[in-house]
Amino acid sequence: MESINFNVPYLTGKETAYIIDAVGRKKLSGNGHYNKLCQQYLNQRYGFGKSLLTNSCTDALEMCALLLRLQPGDEVIVPSYTFVSTASAFILHGARVVFADSNAEEPNLDVSRVEALITPRTRAIVAVHYAGFAVDMDPLLALARKYNLVIIEDAAQAIESFYKGKALGSIGSMAAFSFHETKNIISGEGGLLSLNDAAFFERAEIIWEKGTNRAAFFRGEVAKYNWVDIGASYLPSEVTAAFLYAQLEQLEQIQARRVHLFNRYARLLEPLESAGYLKRAVIPAHATVNGHMFYVLCNSLAERTALIDHLKSKGIMAVFHYLALHESPYYHDKHDGRELPRASRFADILLRLPMFYELTEAQQDYIAGEIQRFFRK
Ligand SMILES: *Cc1c(COP(=O)(O)O)cnc(C)c1O
Repeated sequence: MESINFNVPYLTGKETAYIIDAVGRKKLSGNGHYNKLCQQYLNQRYGFGKSLLTNSCTDALEMCALLLRLQPGDEVIVPSYTFVSTASAFILHGARVVFADSNAEEPNLDVSRVEALITPRTRAIVAVHYAGFAVDMDPLLALARKYNLVIIEDAAQAIESFYKGKALGSIGSMAAFSFHETKNIISGEGGLLSLNDAAFFERAEIIWEKGTNRAAFFRGEVAKYNWVDIGASYLPSEVTAAFLYAQLEQLEQIQARRVHLFNRYARLLEPLESAGYLKRAVIPAHATVNGHMFYVLCNSLAERTALIDHLKSKGIMAVFHYLALHESPYYHDKHDGRELPRASRFADILLRLPMFYELTEAQQDYIAGEIQRFFRK
């Protein structure tokens, strides 16, 4: 029987050569040759104001929290349907998280209902571009201007995706990307903080380098380097950055394949949607497809569980995704009690299908065929 994993990390073949080169340069700590190559590449391709590689997207989100200079009682608005780090990074650095619900048709933040959550203590709104589909950013930017808030993009899944032609991660004041092995472009663990508001550039670099002005010192901008602020060790070593650079060199090829697979799944499953058995992802008119994820919506939790079991019995690993954070064991008694029914619903009915660079069309046909058999039996 065929066995198809949910994710298989793709290697371009150049990773080890670049790591060996990095080792040969005898400068392996952060902010070296490959760190800079990656940062330059990403700035140029996506128009970020400044890029800092990090050890994870979680690190980059923590840096966002530190950049906010949070005071006790400050609030950050976060969708409930997201990965833990979107919320925990801000809680760790002193914020109270206020959870927001999703759109009715797709899991992204319902921006039309965010204004009602804003209080005098609100400092920031985190837009998570779920599955690489852009959140409707213009209304959020309008709220940011009206209430003097910072917009942070959790673009962990959103590389090479666009909102009205603008790269995700280049729209908010700051954004966090992930290069975890489950994402499109990988370095094992890895991430990026991208900044678009120059007011944050200098302090971000200090927070990145343990609270010192070491980066400015190496550029010759200050005579000695000193401890000037709070910070931590967020920068990755050259080993990680060398790996990442090999991936970035093949970004277009990787993306083309993933988008092809996404579109192919969409075609294969269209008849099941027409027949009312499931729904495919709704792609908002302002968004693009980056082939990060292909998900379907089942009619109920019981049906999804049965479908997962059926696919598993055929060797296919299809997986559900987030549990709504406002209902989590950690946050349940800290939440203000509002029901967020859409987040709870997506937690119950969303199912992700295998999606990775080396997935074959024959495997896709097999997966779609088994989904078909499940519903039509
Ligand atoms: C993967 C992911 C993260 C965390 O990324 P790490 O690099 O593992 O820290 C955060 N937010 C979202 C939406 C993610 O998908």
